[in-house]
Amino acid sequence: MNWNLYDRLLASAEADQSICIEKDGGATLTYADLAATSARFAGFLAKIGVGPGHRVAAKVEKSVEAVALYLATLRSGAVYLPLNTAYTPTETEYFIRDAQPTLIVCDPREEADLRVITAKAGGRVETLSEQGKGSLVDAAASLPAGFDTVPRAKDDLAAILYTSGTTGRSKGAMLTHGNLVSNALTLVEQWRFSHQDVLIHALPIYHIHGLFVAGNVTFAARSRILFMQKFDADRILAAMERATVLMGVPTFYVRLLQSTNLSERTTANMRLFVAGSAPLLAETHRAWKEKTGHEILERYGMTETGMIASNPYEGPRIPGSVGRPLPAVEVRITDPESGATLPTDEVGMIEVKGPNVFAGYWNMPEKTAAEFRADGFFITGDLGKLDGRGYLHIVGRGKDLIITGGFNVYPKELETEIDAIPGVSESAVVGVPHADFGEGVTAAVVRTPGSSVDERAILNALSGRLAKFKQPKRIIFVDTLPRNAMGKVQKALLRERFGDLYSAKVD
Ligand code: AMP
Repeated sequence: MNWNLYDRLLASAEADQSICIEKDGGATLTYADLAATSARFAGFLAKIGVGPGHRVAAKVEKSVEAVALYLATLRSGAVYLPLNTAYTPTETEYFIRDAQPTLIVCDPREEADLRVITAKAGGRVETLSEQGKGSLVDAAASLPAGFDTVPRAKDDLAAILYTSGTTGRSKGAMLTHGNLVSNALTLVEQWRFSHQDVLIHALPIYHIHGLFVAGNVTFAARSRILFMQKFDADRILAAMERATVLMGVPTFYVRLLQSTNLSERTTANMRLFVAGSAPLLAETHRAWKEKTGHEILERYGMTETGMIASNPYEGPRIPGSVGRPLPAVEVRITDPESGATLPTDEVGMIEVKGPNVFAGYWNMPEKTAAEFRADGFFITGDLGKLDGRGYLHIVGRGKDLIITGGFNVYPKELETEIDAIPGVSESAVVGVPHADFGEGVTAAVVRTPGSSVDERAILNALSGRLAKFKQPKRIIFVDTLPRNAMGKVQKALLRERFGDLYSAKVD
């Protein structure tokens, strides 16, 4: 049986003249157009020898052509590897060395950097700009508008998405065609997606949320996408008049709530608001309902597993809960130490098993083995509980992950960078409630004796080394870090101490 995600979602799209994507500015693209562009790109991939198993890395801005490149990679049987556009050259080099892509498609502005990297790490470089121009497009322009999609088995890899590692090393989550097909089809059914739907898409497309949840689901239902380069509250509010669904991170909803234009009237055409990638405050859920009459549907997932749980389309959407496990997805709560399953309402480690769960971390068999139980359950690292109605509640993150504006930041990676700055003795990075970003990245720093290093100097030192979203919003100098008897830094105390840092300020 052919499990190729492209064939499963977009079979015979070449004959479908319905609108698939409407770009910023109004230009439209049909499903047939997307099929033709992806065929040309796939033809180019085949021509340069990219085939089953090869990796195609894309570090490009959001564009229709970038979507076509994703689909072309699937069609050629290769593995798609999207990279966050914010990564610095040092960070990018790590991914290229680790994943060894055959082809790297980058923004023309980054071509020189990528050429330096590939001179050391290997791989061919082509370009694609935000406007959909570049060497990739030129090279594919004269190729045929049809391409025979390469059949793939259920367990063949479709994509590798890098998640940050708690130790500072990023891990490539290997997702199969079977993973992505099952999750997309389940969500279409659960969220009642149809050809009539018009989705507001303001998410980045290098992350699971914008690429697989928003993208694959709309393709599978042949809905229409209103493609926005980035979040813009006014533009989103204006689009609601003719849209039916919004998928966003909680920050979207917090910001939209600040607009005086948000009302029952402006959201009257909308049928569904989905939130995920970070905790949606129960307070935001209630405020949204009060202002618009709609209940936000919160769901829970992660790169390694796709979507795990969702509040129901029909039935109670419980503020502060992420809903019930999706069909065919098993969730259990266990004692993090012993692995024993815990009873209802007890907080423990969230473990998950199902057709959505990834095939392991690229090049990391030991890390993969350590994160799976013998019976196949994946240990998510999130802490939570299942209530009497089977609803899942996430109460914290075992791995100290910070989620800021929907992006993951792992403290250890920042601490390593900060500790290397002259004048710094040690540091601890925590996430502190932030009205706009959900959590604000905050670093507690101990100076070395006699050092006068200040906040500005540390922020300057980090700016070229870490993507902007990872950089601390504030540096707080302390005499010592609070530690427990085992010598572990007590981050909970720091979070408590810095708790009010951003409450009055939205920046
Ligand atoms: P990512 O792999 O970037 O999608 O991040 C996955 C992590 O985001 C999960 O392990 C959770 O910690 C967090 N997450 C995703 N959705 C939710 C949610 N609805 N509520 C709380 N945390 C969430």
